[in-house]
Amino acid sequence: MTVALKFFCPTARQLFESGIWMDAETVNRQRLKLVSVDCPLCKRTHRFMLADARLDDEDVAS
Ligand SMILES: [Zn+2]
Repeated sequence: MTVALKFFCPTARQLFESGIWMDAETVNRQRLKLVSVDCPLCKRTHRFMLADARLDDEDVAS
C-alpha cells in the first residue's frame, strides 16, 4: 500500500504534507533512513527519519 508521508515541522509546530509517497512496508523496513523535505510551512528544508513520518492513507481510502 502506498501512503503519503506527513511530517511535523518543529518551527511551525504543525504537520505538513511532504509530497513523498512511499510503500508502507518500505517505511517500516527503513525507519532510520533520512529524507530531506522542503517544508511549505517555514520554507526551509528539514531532514527527518522515516520513523518520524505520519503515514496518511486516508486520501487513498476516500
Ligand atoms: Zn518547517
